[in-house]
Amino acid sequence: MIQLPPLSISRNELAEVRLVTAAREWLEKEDTKRAKGIHASGLLDPRLEYWQEILPRPLTERQTMLFLCGRILHHFVITSVEPNTHPEQSDSGSHEELGILFSPDLIKDTHPIELKTNRSFYPPREEKLQDELSFYLEQLCIYLILTNTLTGELWVLYTNLRDEANRTWPEIRCFSVELTQVQFEALEQQIVATRDLLLKAKAEKDHRGLELCRKWRCGDQCAWWRECSPEGRWPTTDKRRWSA
Ligand code: SF4
Repeated sequence: MIQLPPLSISRNELAEVRLVTAAREWLEKEDTKRAKGIHASGLLDPRLEYWQEILPRPLTERQTMLFLCGRILHHFVITSVEPNTHPEQSDSGSHEELGILFSPDLIKDTHPIELKTNRSFYPPREEKLQDELSFYLEQLCIYLILTNTLTGELWVLYTNLRDEANRTWPEIRCFSVELTQVQFEALEQQIVATRDLLLKAKAEKDHRGLELCRKWRCGDQCAWWRECSPEGRWPTTDKRRWSA
């Protein structure tokens, strides 16, 4: 071990600001390459998708760092299974079906694979997989409909899983997901109906016909909290008192 003398160490906040600014600029530049239209991810919480298009706002520092880490991890995982991936690629490229743009992380033999990163200390419980993975599963199911297939995979890279000795390390968990034909058809109807509501809201510049976003995304941390004034929630920031 090297015996260090007492060092002069100080936090360099200017360097931090420069790094976050550079990351934000890179992410926003990437976002300008995104085709205009209805995106699959926008169907998850259509009000957010509405505001992102109607009243775009810069990414917060938190969003910038979360998106940056997600992009980097996606790129490395995807490159490990698809060695010919382009250096800036973090998904399978852009596709369109039912008037909806979508970019699954990978498509293998016509089946979509969605990769997520998660900072939880604990893996999802076997008996509660659907509840605990629901946000990810919604997105994968949209991809199943748009790629016209009944089966796909969800890969979750847990960056911080804790073991019995209280140590944390990254672990990947892969899940196979299957729909019945009846489930497929019901989901397809929901997706088309949500697409139409979103198109109408954008055309009429009126968000009120769109359902409220899930609670964990809503509140004063949402960049459009004031303009959206979600019914049954606004202006109360205490989520326990929300009626919707
Ligand atoms: S305020 Fe809530 S409901 Fe409105 S866009 Fe933001 S997250 Fe969605």
